[in-house]
Amino acid sequence: MPREAVILACSECKGRNYIATKNKRVHPGRVEVKKYCPRCKKHLPHRETR
Ligand SMILES: [Zn+2]
Repeated sequence: MPREAVILACSECKGRNYIATKNKRVHPGRVEVKKYCPRCKKHLPHRETR
């Protein structure tokens, strides 16, 4: 299964807040998800990082 663990970092403070898994066939590129950031104390787009 081409499922891979990815780290989701806040686009504003760059804090690495979430670890998610994604299917590489469905998302071949970078994924962006709106999630709550505890450092910014609001919902912000979180991006996949390495
Ligand atoms: Zn943040």
